[in-house]
Amino acid sequence: MAMEPKATLTGAKTLAPYKLACREARPEGSVVRVGDLTIGNGSMVVMAGPCAVESRQQLMETAQAVKLAGAQVLRGGAYKPRTSPYSFQGLEEEGLELLREARAETGLKIITEVKDVRAVERVAQVADILQIGTRNMQNFGLLQEVGRTQVPVMLKRGLSATVEEWLMAAEYILAEGNEQVMLCERGIRTFEPFTRNTLDLSAVAAVRELSHLPVIVDPSHGTGRWKMVTPMALAAVAAGADGLIIEVHPRPWEALSDGPQSLTVERFAGLMTAMDPLLRALGRA
Ligand code: PEP
Ligand code: MN
Repeated sequence: MAMEPKATLTGAKTLAPYKLACREARPEGSVVRVGDLTIGNGSMVVMAGPCAVESRQQLMETAQAVKLAGAQVLRGGAYKPRTSPYSFQGLEEEGLELLREARAETGLKIITEVKDVRAVERVAQVADILQIGTRNMQNFGLLQEVGRTQVPVMLKRGLSATVEEWLMAAEYILAEGNEQVMLCERGIRTFEPFTRNTLDLSAVAAVRELSHLPVIVDPSHGTGRWKMVTPMALAAVAAGADGLIIEVHPRPWEALSDGPQSLTVERFAGLMTAMDPLLRALGRA
């Protein structure tokens, strides 16, 4: 026997187990507001910056350059989730302070990762957007904790998460009362070793059908190769992404993490220029 659709908060009926994240809950789509910035209303948001905050010089140089190229949000990890405990773990509180300075100096909004439930309050004092990393997509305690703030959250898709699992993770945040949630496709594990991950752009179309949450694409982690970042960024825009998050480093060969997938500031500016006619063609300029 067919299952009876359950009513969502708006009274719409859905069979989806993610009652708040499903498209029917807000058919017109969600708009996430980050100060004067809006994400999900047809505009294109670009977040750019280093994988990790490494020094004042590195961060300020990158911040000024990405701002000049047209980015609205500065990315940079202060707390880095590294595969090895012996790898650079981030500047932690000092990194947060540098991000605060970079915002004051440039006016860029800040996105930075929070990887530990104990750090949510501290990170939320600096971050305009809290990033939940791929490895923490199903850290349910952390999801609930960021759900209890009113700070916008960008939830990265788990390394091996299905679209449904990803939307259920978003549901944990929404269920705590934080409606300011966006999703981020950053590539998944497949059998293909040429790329670091397989950027699943079909997930963009899937999520736009299944959910009202804005979707951001990360072609840096999605490919692991800087040469592939610009073509996949353009493909993401064509697929309907609401925004991009791009790793940029003034000297990628010196980066303490993710150098091989980082664009130089010049290449990042090139990406922004290449995106222009595409946005215009899509009526999104
Ligand atoms: C990052 O953005 O630098 C990062 C660690 O991303 P992910 O969680 O997608 O690996
Ligand atoms: Mn990175």
